[in-house]
Amino acid sequence: MNLDFITVLFLITAIGFVILMVLLPRFGPHYISRLTCPSCRKTFNFHWIPGATITSLIRRNYRVLKCPYCHTRSTFDIMATRARAPKTTKVLKGAKIKAKA
Ligand SMILES: [Zn+2]
Repeated sequence: MNLDFITVLFLITAIGFVILMVLLPRFGPHYISRLTCPSCRKTFNFHWIPGATITSLIRRNYRVLKCPYCHTRSTFDIMATRARAPKTTKVLKGAKIKAKA
C-alpha cells in the first residue's frame, strides 16, 4: 500500500475532525455555566468548551446567547457564572441547552 502526501493529509484531517467534533464535547473538559437571562430573569445551564471555536478565542469570557425561555439575544459572562457541579432542580431540568461555545 502506497500512501502519498494528500492521502496522509486527508487522514490527519479526518481524525482531527472526529476528535474535535465527537470526542471532545462528550468526554473532554467542558464547563457548565448557570446563566440568568436579563430580560425574563430565568436561569438556564450552558455547556461550553474553552477555546473550541474561533469566536470563543476572540470573545474570551463572553457569549451572545439566545435565552431558551424568551428567545432574546443577550451577552453573558460565562466565566463568572461557571459552576462545577450544577444542581438539578425542576426549573433547570427543562432548560438545559447544549452548545459548542
Ligand atoms: Zn429570557
